[in-house]
Amino acid sequence: MQRLDRFMAAANARYYAAGDPFREFATAPEICQAFGEILGLWAASVWEGLGRPNPVLLVELGPGRGTMMTDALRATTKMAANFRAAVRLCFIEASPGLRDVQKTLFPDAIWRESVEEIPPGPFLLLANEFLDALPIRQFVHRPEGWTERFVTAGGKFRERPTSVPGREAPVGGVPVGEVIEICEPALDLAARLGARLKETPGAALFIDYGPAASAPGESLQALRGGRPADPLADPGSADLSAHVDFAAFAAAARVAGAAVSGPVPQGLFLTRLGLFQRIDRLARGQSPARAAALIASGRRLAEPDAMGRLFKVLGLAHPGAPELPGFAP
Ligand code: SAH
Repeated sequence: MQRLDRFMAAANARYYAAGDPFREFATAPEICQAFGEILGLWAASVWEGLGRPNPVLLVELGPGRGTMMTDALRATTKMAANFRAAVRLCFIEASPGLRDVQKTLFPDAIWRESVEEIPPGPFLLLANEFLDALPIRQFVHRPEGWTERFVTAGGKFRERPTSVPGREAPVGGVPVGEVIEICEPALDLAARLGARLKETPGAALFIDYGPAASAPGESLQALRGGRPADPLADPGSADLSAHVDFAAFAAAARVAGAAVSGPVPQGLFLTRLGLFQRIDRLARGQSPARAAALIASGRRLAEPDAMGRLFKVLGLAHPGAPELPGFAP
């Protein structure tokens, strides 16, 4: 029997080692090139606000096929050449296969195992659909008290009595029968980044799916062959993910010393930063079919019924940094 987070970590490690997670779903950068372009220009604009440190580390967590960074660097080469010239790339990537893909795209980049190993100095960090892959623990409120979920060898949940870490008092307001989720590696990451940002000029942007406010409910999900599947069956054959608890992540970063912006819905963030102006530019002079496809891809990122509302953007910054772009109307 394995604790759920250990089961999830092992299953995802096998899954990411075996192949290409993108056969399951399309992420925002894979849907529309304007996504990466806008994030690249966001980073350039934050860099200006930090006083143009040179060099500056541009860090990405879980870059996948490198699409977002490719689009970001192309946009900054054109629109923010001084920033592009100051950038040193640093990636954190668990999958050996994807690391190889990234190495061919970005031969001058460096790879590190974790955020503690990122070289010192001013930095900008981007992470799209990274936090949702980190392992969660699940706790169930039973009439007798709290239990934690474990996974049996046969792929079933089994519960063991426990207390919920960090919340020894009864977890307020959670009805009996409800499940709560805690993602310890995400909270740990928020605390480490918060501590670093307290001392060092920089900022970090996390884009992922989940509610803005913490709420009970289970969100562990599996995609196998592009379809929802049983998360406990056949570990390593499916992409496992869970909603990001943005409120908990933000609180951990704030306590450690970072200034926090958001979360705001992805649609709002991208629209404020000019998503549709960029799509218009890209569509100009294209065939009607190509123009329609571009517009549809932008809408998919921004519209509330597609990715615009469920996906959120959270910013962390050095407390002395100017307000991060995209968070205020
Ligand atoms: N950001 C990309 C990929 C998202 S998929 C995009 O938006 O398209 C998640 C990425 O995080 C993959 O590259 C995966 O290999 C990586 N990953 C997942 N868990 C990780 C971990 N614990 N440490 C480092 N990388 C991880």
